[in-house]
Amino acid sequence: MPKVTIQPQVVCGECYPCRHGKYNLCEELKVMGFQTTGTASEYFAVDASKVTPLPEDMSYEEGAMIEPLAVAVHAVRQAGDVKGMKIAVLGAGPIGNLVAQTALGMGAESVLITDVSNLRLEKAKECGIQCTANTKEEDLGDAMLRFFGPDKADVIYDCAGNNITMGQAIKYARKGSVIILVVVFAGMAEIDLAVLNDHELDLNTTMMYRNEDYIEGIRLVNEGKVHLQPLISKTFAFRDYKQAYQYIDENRETAMKVIINVQK
Ligand SMILES: [Zn+2]
Repeated sequence: MPKVTIQPQVVCGECYPCRHGKYNLCEELKVMGFQTTGTASEYFAVDASKVTPLPEDMSYEEGAMIEPLAVAVHAVRQAGDVKGMKIAVLGAGPIGNLVAQTALGMGAESVLITDVSNLRLEKAKECGIQCTANTKEEDLGDAMLRFFGPDKADVIYDCAGNNITMGQAIKYARKGSVIILVVVFAGMAEIDLAVLNDHELDLNTTMMYRNEDYIEGIRLVNEGKVHLQPLISKTFAFRDYKQAYQYIDENRETAMKVIINVQK
């Protein structure tokens, strides 16, 4: 049986974004498992158009990680071609880690990743992201000078999505550069729009992914440019479903991704 993964998006196919190929922005978007039945059910049916084949030699665990990787691929592409660019990624959780790996995989010249957790920064190093900074110990501005010199970063990806990280991004971005908000902001933002304006910064956003992001993600893994295995913190059997969620709750800082294996 061929291995596949799915894009868990239920879209209308008729709204303006859908008619223009941007179905990740469907006006009626529903996410499987959130607004519709998820895979923790007896039967789970998916429209054939939402299925992407996986290479035979890719593990099911890696296959399950193509979805979060596609989030990163879509996010990185919001800055266009990142080849040769200097990039800062704020937040070294699973999405930040994958954004940093993807940017490097797509040819970025150098990528700095920041977090306030040394454990997460160690994990980033394990995945091949050599430039890290703990912003509890070092100012983002100083870290950017240290890694990139006075021209600082071409693009800053905010993968933490809070007032502190977005505030840092706006404060330290090179004038006229690009900031991309990757993760969902928890509430109303308190950020300095005056500086954003004065420095003519482009503040862009990104939401989910499309099929081409899956294809690119699979290519990056296949070519050894993105490493997914270090991000899998633990695997649980389907019957231990509840423990998997308990594990995530009890290991907020260290747990990256947890897999539930429905074959077991
Ligand atoms: Zn639609």
